[in-house]
Amino acid sequence: MGTFAHRVLEVTHRDLLARALERQMGAHVLEDLRAASPDATQSDEYRARVEELVSLAQGAPAERVPGSAPRSPEELERARAVLEEEFDAHLSHQYQLMGRKRPRPLPQALVAHSAQQAGQLRGLRRDLASLLDYEAGLLEGFEPRLFEWGFGRGGTEVEYAGVRLTGTIDRVDVDAHGQAVVIDYKHKSDVGFAREYDVFPKGGPAPGAPALPRRVQSLIYGQVVRRAFPGLTVRAAVYLCTKGGHALAGAVDENIADNVFGGRAPSASRLERVCVPRAEGFGRAGEGGMEALLDSCEEAVAAAISRMLAGDIEAAPVDADACLFCPVLNCERRLGK
Ligand code: SF4
Repeated sequence: MGTFAHRVLEVTHRDLLARALERQMGAHVLEDLRAASPDATQSDEYRARVEELVSLAQGAPAERVPGSAPRSPEELERARAVLEEEFDAHLSHQYQLMGRKRPRPLPQALVAHSAQQAGQLRGLRRDLASLLDYEAGLLEGFEPRLFEWGFGRGGTEVEYAGVRLTGTIDRVDVDAHGQAVVIDYKHKSDVGFAREYDVFPKGGPAPGAPALPRRVQSLIYGQVVRRAFPGLTVRAAVYLCTKGGHALAGAVDENIADNVFGGRAPSASRLERVCVPRAEGFGRAGEGGMEALLDSCEEAVAAAISRMLAGDIEAAPVDADACLFCPVLNCERRLGK
């Protein structure tokens, strides 16, 4: 279900950016194609035009494209319509078969086989639509620019913590100053989401101590974006809950927390868990803030990888939650029940 949600969100945001850019340019190729056929969005011509416009916007990510981050009631209505279209189109793709000689279903096809699963799909549709409204209250001044950005494949090597890394970054939003927020979608319950994904423990970071937070995925992605796009300044690496009541958690530069959380300001005690102080070096001399956190985290990951490459692969769970869903039931190192 998460893969499906990612794809629908990706295509929706691409379409919103492309159409917003066309409006700004005074062009109307996409609108004409839409007017000519109800299935236009699935045609090669439409997709190629979207790709062309998205590439154009990505070439100058700090330039503003009004309407690409829906906020007003009209923009949100348009965004919901696009999302509905893409949801339906993507759902119909799930029934397609691959391969001519021996046709077989798509890997990870999302097809409801029972009334319960059909209900889950309806819930997913609701979740994604309400996510647009939730997001309208966040990330003030930021607009989505990169979507499902793949790295480390096709001959381009990406190194992180001394090893080659491949991956896909769900989304990167950029403001007019070239500040970037790296976003990882998580399709899981919003209950306890912030506690799980905020970067620091209660009370904030330990002064001067190196950082190895419980969750490092978005910090790794933040570092990858920082290196791949030297023109951008990574100011936040966050997780966006795409389910239920939604939530935003992770690591945010203290000076832009107001913009990132917008009208959904966290409590003072939560701010300590999410805000990255600019004066904090995380054990890195001459550095501070997000840059120091990203470097410190990479250093800690590099040390863990070296240890494992040297043969030390003994299980060492950080807490009972790490073992919660582990299928190794007879593990002697299991914490909790
Ligand atoms: S149960 Fe054992 S193998 Fe599974 S996460 Fe916990 S320590 Fe690791």
